[in-house]
Amino acid sequence: MDFSFSEEEEALRLEVQSFIQEHFTEEVLADLTTGKRGRGFGPRAAPIFRKIAERGWNAIAWPKAYGGQGGSRITQFLVEEEFYRAAQVVIGGGGTGTPAVLASGTEAQKQYYVPRAIHREIIFCQGYSEPHCGTDLAGVRCRATRNGTGEDSHYVVNGQKIYTTNAQVATHVFLLVRTDPESKRHAGLSILLVPMDTPGITVRPLLTLQNNPGGPAGTTYGEERTNEVFFDDVKVPVSCLLGEEGDGWAVSQRGLNLDRVGAWRYLISVKRDEDIVNWLKSDDVRAAPLRSDASVRDKVAELWIEGQVCRLMTMRSMTIEQRGQAFSYEGAAEKVWAPEHGVRTTEAIGQILGPHAQLLNGSPDNLQEGLYAHNLLSAFQSTVNHGSVQVMRDQIARKGLGLPKSRK
Ligand SMILES: Cc1cc2nc3c(=O)[nH]c(=O)nc-3n(C[C@H](O)[C@H](O)[C@H](O)COP(=O)(O)OP(=O)(O)OC[C@H]3O[C@@H](n4cnc5c(N)ncnc54)[C@H](O)[C@@H]3O)c2cc1C
Repeated sequence: MDFSFSEEEEALRLEVQSFIQEHFTEEVLADLTTGKRGRGFGPRAAPIFRKIAERGWNAIAWPKAYGGQGGSRITQFLVEEEFYRAAQVVIGGGGTGTPAVLASGTEAQKQYYVPRAIHREIIFCQGYSEPHCGTDLAGVRCRATRNGTGEDSHYVVNGQKIYTTNAQVATHVFLLVRTDPESKRHAGLSILLVPMDTPGITVRPLLTLQNNPGGPAGTTYGEERTNEVFFDDVKVPVSCLLGEEGDGWAVSQRGLNLDRVGAWRYLISVKRDEDIVNWLKSDDVRAAPLRSDASVRDKVAELWIEGQVCRLMTMRSMTIEQRGQAFSYEGAAEKVWAPEHGVRTTEAIGQILGPHAQLLNGSPDNLQEGLYAHNLLSAFQSTVNHGSVQVMRDQIARKGLGLPKSRK
């Protein structure tokens, strides 16, 4: 088996690296790696994302008919990897919304949403979790009642979502609702693509551990804010329904699976190994004795090997997606391995660096503005969001190993 990239792909990698070198000045880098800027928000980040979109780099694998390049998922992976490694910039493929529209949308929906998403005129947040259900998503209570007929046919949405990351900046919410009031569990659910400026939607911040003090530039997965979102008699046209009414479970799971894989998803965890290795090689006087310590070298080599496994798992998922096949257990396996690797890495870094590594941004004597301490705080939550590792293990046991459902 040959894992190497083609000559054209390597040439593209060089082109992306030289774009990064040209455009990511220190000022821009500091801006991009803070808060939501790595997703294109902020005065310095927005023009860079426009240039990335002009080159088509955020939609290499999406069909030409909807503004993409019609290229391969592996090429998209390569470009995503370069941008995330350089500045935690998330481009292409990521997010539940657009891949799910491509997978389950009508022709009109694909024509409307995909080109706009490429140019960042549409940004989705994901409205799945509710106060009483996250892991157990089949317990969704947020209601959408169908009213009216013909042109005026619409849903009225009432309920609450929680942990809705990016709701404060998104243009649309990818919303899981119960359309059949008599239904139970996985049946009777639907997905609605709801514009966030629809009357009746209220967004309230839900601050995370990363909020105060904020994580420094380069903190991976350090969202300082997520949200609660309330829906009070929100009127949504029926044309916002994605997939069939009542088929929301399948549509949402397909979207989640596509969102669990990708270069930036694995690098969230693996970038931490790269950071500590780079620091050990730096001219910080504290690094010199550590880098020649046998136990430290042993540990970072072990972590590096684990990181390569994350990368290979991601590439396997990319090729499955590229062949147009559905994941069975592979996305779940990646969702267990990469976040748990991130936890192991941050713990190991704590042991290598000692108490300095536990000082947050703003504390005197911290290392790299508290980077490692903030990463330690954020490592654990990545084992919960987007499907917890316990639930992922259950999927692997059932779909990968063919074991029966566990007894309650
Ligand atoms: C920072 C952050 C951002 C998030 N962003 C979003 C977002 O944008 N949109 C969105 O919809 N949601 C989001 N979430 C929510 C996330 O998906 C849920 O937190 C997650 O699904 C877990 O649900 P819960 O919080 O209700 O925990 P619970 O379901 O109460 O689970 C708590 C623990 O119990 C374990 N557990 C529960 N049931 C079982 C079982 N049957 N077997 C074994 N173990 C079990 C879980 O694995 C977990 O460890 C986010 C969460 C976080 C922390």
